[in-house]
Order: sequence, then structure tokens, then C-alpha cells
Amino acid sequence: MKIAILSRNPELYSTRRLVEAAERRGHEAQVVNVLRCYMDITSTKPAIYHAEQKLQGFDAVIPRIGASVTFYGLAVLRQFEMMDVYPLNESVAIGRARDKLRSQQLLARAGVGLPVTGFAHTADDIKSLINLVGGPPLIIKLLEGTQGKGVILAETHQAAESVIDAFRKLDANFLVQEYVSEAGGSDIRCFVIGGRVVAAMKRTAKEGEFRSNLHRGGTGSLTELSPEEQDTAVQAAETMGLNVAGVDIVRSARGPLVLEVNSSPGLRGIEAITETDIAGMIIEFIESNAGNHGTFIRGRG
Ligand code: ADP
Ligand code: MG
Repeated sequence: MKIAILSRNPELYSTRRLVEAAERRGHEAQVVNVLRCYMDITSTKPAIYHAEQKLQGFDAVIPRIGASVTFYGLAVLRQFEMMDVYPLNESVAIGRARDKLRSQQLLARAGVGLPVTGFAHTADDIKSLINLVGGPPLIIKLLEGTQGKGVILAETHQAAESVIDAFRKLDANFLVQEYVSEAGGSDIRCFVIGGRVVAAMKRTAKEGEFRSNLHRGGTGSLTELSPEEQDTAVQAAETMGLNVAGVDIVRSARGPLVLEVNSSPGLRGIEAITETDIAGMIIEFIESNAGNHGTFIRGRG
């Protein structure tokens, strides 16, 4: 097969691993920088050009679109879909996952466990919003943050109101969320491929930090998932319509709660900690699914 990997940096661990895994299985892999792509969307034969070269003959595309290039990256991925190239994750599913509010609504409708979350537009409603999630300490999250940036823990009413005020002034979209304190600064990253959790690790925040992101200095360790945790992760990925997803779960007193569903989960930490060839599993998934598809949209909303 000929596989395109949408990534801006061929040197990134995850990109390198995917190229390596594809080539080891006898496939051809090409790293495509979406920002260097331009597209012919008007003709009946849609085409993509990458740095002067027309991209042709691809069987599958692996999107690894960075948060900062979501808009253009998804446009390029849609163009691949129009050309009937099999997407590991569909553009619509990635779009859902990138928006934390939309994701929460979809997961809530599917009955997936979530922290109590509120969202409001006018400043007049701040107090009720804070009460809705059970008062401080609470979490305030920018809707399109990633790697822990834009996630704030407000420990008092005053802190919560100041942060909300500041975000309002900046016209930023955010949600307010119950702080799951019993998780103790830890969460579980579940790596889902094709409706199965293939690897999982516990991430623990460094001293004095509540965010467990590895980019924020968190550390990973092995953990056993309960059947309920496995089901939750699989159902969350399925609800978003993602074939491959990193589902983040916190262990709360009332069971597993999903924090977010990542559509381009990193491979470095989880492969190292679980000693699993996840890149290989992703290529295997493509081998079994790329041939017999039509581009279609899974999930709702
Ligand atoms: P990001 O997309 O920036 O990673 P997350 O929603 O995953 O944003 O939050 C980052 C980290 O902050 C999580 O991995 C978790 O450790 C912590 N966190 C986020 N929301 C909560 C919450 N409601 N209760 C407790 N911890 C949380
Ligand atoms: Mg996260």
C-alpha cells in the first residue's frame, strides 16, 4: 500500500515510528506537510499538490494534524477523502474531538461518564455556572486547548470569577468543570484502535501540579484497566467516530469519567511505558480496513 502521513515534522517520534512500521510491512510511506499542500477542489477530479508534486495513488492517509493547523489540515484531509483515500480517522470525527464542548455533548448523549460541566455565554451567569458544577475548587478549560495549556484549577470563588472574567474579556470560549480531586492529579490514557484498548498508562502530575500531561512534566506508569474502564474508553472513541483515539479517563468516586478524546494521540510515552508496538498495530488496522471502505461519516453531530 501507499500511505500518506499528514505531519509537519518527519523527525517527530510518532511520525518516524509510523513510517518505520509501514515500511517494515512492505508499504510505501510519505510524510506530507499539510501547510505545503494546495488543492484543486473545483474539478470533478479532485487533486492535491504537495510542494509542486501531485499526490497520487495513495490507499490510506494517517492524519497527525497539530492543533494549531486544524482548520487547514482538516481541509486537506477532506480532499484525500474526496479522492477516496482511506482515512485512519475521518475529518468529521477529528473536528468533533478538537472541540471540547461538542465532544462533551456527544459523550453525554451517549451516556458516557463525564465530570459535571457547564458552559455559558453571558457574564451575568457566572455565579450560577460556578454553583452548577458544585462550587470551587473547579476547573476552567479553554475549548481548544491541548497539552494542558488552557486548563486552570480555581480553588476559590474569587479565583474562579477572576479567571472567567479575564477569559470573557479576551472573547475566549471555555467551559467550567467539576474538579475530580479524588483522582489525585492522575489520569489514565487509554489507547484505542478499532474498538479495542491496546495499551493504557497511568499519568501522574509532578509535585505541585494537577495536570498529568507528560508535556507538563507528568510521569507515566503501567496500570490495569477494569472492564468498566475499558468499556468507557471504547465507547468514547466509538461515539466520536474515531478508529484511533487516546481516551483520557479519571478514576472518580462514581466510576470512570472521560476528560477528553484525542484524535492524534502521541506514541512516544505510551510505547515506551507499555513496551507495545502501537505504530505496528495502527498499520495492521489500516491493512485490514483500507480496501473495503467508502468514505462515510460515522456518529452523529
Ligand atoms: P488538554 O487537552 O490540554 O490535555 P485536559 O482536559 O486533558 O486538557 O486536561 C489536562 C489535565 O488536567 C488532565 O490530563 C488532568 O490531569 C487534569 N484535569 C483536567 N480536567 C480535570 C478535572 N475535571 N478534574 C481533575 N483533573 C482534571
Ligand atoms: Mg489531555
